[in-house]
Amino acid sequence: EAMDAFARQKRFLMNVGDVKGKILTQALARSGAGNVLELGTYCGYSAILMALHLKGSGHVDSLEMNPGNAEAARAIIDFAGLSEKITVHTGAAGDIIPSLGRQYDLVFIDHWKNQYLPDLLLIESSEVIKPGSYVVADNIGMFDATGYLDHVRDSGRYDNTNHQAHMEYNDTIFDAVEVSILRH
Ligand code: SAM
Ligand code: MG
Repeated sequence: EAMDAFARQKRFLMNVGDVKGKILTQALARSGAGNVLELGTYCGYSAILMALHLKGSGHVDSLEMNPGNAEAARAIIDFAGLSEKITVHTGAAGDIIPSLGRQYDLVFIDHWKNQYLPDLLLIESSEVIKPGSYVVADNIGMFDATGYLDHVRDSGRYDNTNHQAHMEYNDTIFDAVEVSILRH
């Protein structure tokens, strides 16, 4: 709530925000709310939001390539009292994904948009998702995500739902979130 107020009153922040955040936490609850992988930490807003909705020993691994952002996120996460629930890994997602060595109930994709498809393909080949895992992609309305959407919708590997919304902290710019569930 403090980050939402700051982003509305002081300076825009590219957090998923409170409105699309509900789409994310709803998907998280449906996925079983266990382990989460996030591509793009920024200030830690969505990592904190998801950590607050985890069940039991669930954990968030969040990947951030900008060291300054990663450092700021760690400080904010510590301030929120959630350091034990969230690990911020500094580096490009493409370099880290192959060595994660675990499977996730939900992956939240929210880094640079030209990386959505290559990093999802890497997630598939590295087997960090399993049948029933949720893949949630932010900003597929306000940016051209054609290649990514073609893959999740036409590969036959996912069941997809498109959630229409607006850009974070904005009432006019159209945006959307795609929720894709890996088929059994
Ligand atoms: N998920 C965050 C939230 O809702 O609070 C917002 C993430 S922000 C939109 C995108 C972040 O992705 C930026 O901090 C950027 O540095 C990071 N990023 C961009 N490309 C990346 C990559 N290939 N690997 C890891 N992080 C990346
Ligand atoms: Mg976003």
